[in-house]
Amino acid sequence: MSADAEILRRRETASNIWKKCTGCGVRVEAEALAANLGVCPSCGHHRRLAPLERASWLFDPGTFRPRRHRLRSTDPLGFRVRSGEDPAPEEPVIYGTGSIDGGRCAAALMDFFQAGGTLGAVAGELICRAGELSLSEGIPLLLVTASGGARVQEGAVALLQMAKTMVTMNELHEAGIPVIALLCDPTSGGVAASFAYAADFILAEPGALVCFSGPRVAEQAAGIRFPEEFARAERLLERGLVDMVVPRHEQRRVIGDLLAFLEGSERRFMRREDSRVRESAEWEQG
Ligand SMILES: [Zn+2]
Repeated sequence: MSADAEILRRRETASNIWKKCTGCGVRVEAEALAANLGVCPSCGHHRRLAPLERASWLFDPGTFRPRRHRLRSTDPLGFRVRSGEDPAPEEPVIYGTGSIDGGRCAAALMDFFQAGGTLGAVAGELICRAGELSLSEGIPLLLVTASGGARVQEGAVALLQMAKTMVTMNELHEAGIPVIALLCDPTSGGVAASFAYAADFILAEPGALVCFSGPRVAEQAAGIRFPEEFARAERLLERGLVDMVVPRHEQRRVIGDLLAFLEGSERRFMRREDSRVRESAEWEQG
């Protein structure tokens, strides 16, 4: 092995053992960080998580069942081919059903590590399928968002996903099925401007950036400097744009309590067939 390769190997090994906190810069043992749900023990910074890592502690053991699919994005404008990227990257959404503290729900979890969690045609479809699961089973929907916004490489097709997902949100609303959103760092652009903020209960992780345009773009457009806490979860809570900021260690309990409350409330969720029956009855009466 050459000296350069040996240095690279050692660096890689070191980065697997130690993780540098982006909040305070302290190096934390990767294993200890994972055991602490990705929260820095030194400053409390919440590291970004991949969906399956989150699902492993958010859902009751063995209950989360991701649904399989064979959908892959196309590259309608040829952007990715021209820039030498994979024309059909992994999709940034997994969805399925599971139980949180005994409360059953359908869930869609976004992955910022896959193409910045961008909302393209397939991601939009998978969010809608999670909503369809809620409708068909009559269970609440949990949306865990992390996204840089619409996938610009798909042009207008990506923008249409905002309208498409909102149709599903509307169907859930009409069927009386509650939607809980957990906004993670970052939730921005077309995702913040559509289904993320269309939920009935809007929770956010501490320090999460939630906005339409990021601070840099907004500063350039407005020509002024924004404070450090601009568009962070805590600021949004103060302004009434978020219902609750929930630290990671409390998320299972809080979401579980919410699901139990909704299950026990007088409102009974209607199955999709029931809501259609009701609609046609109203139509006939009207
Ligand atoms: Zn830290």
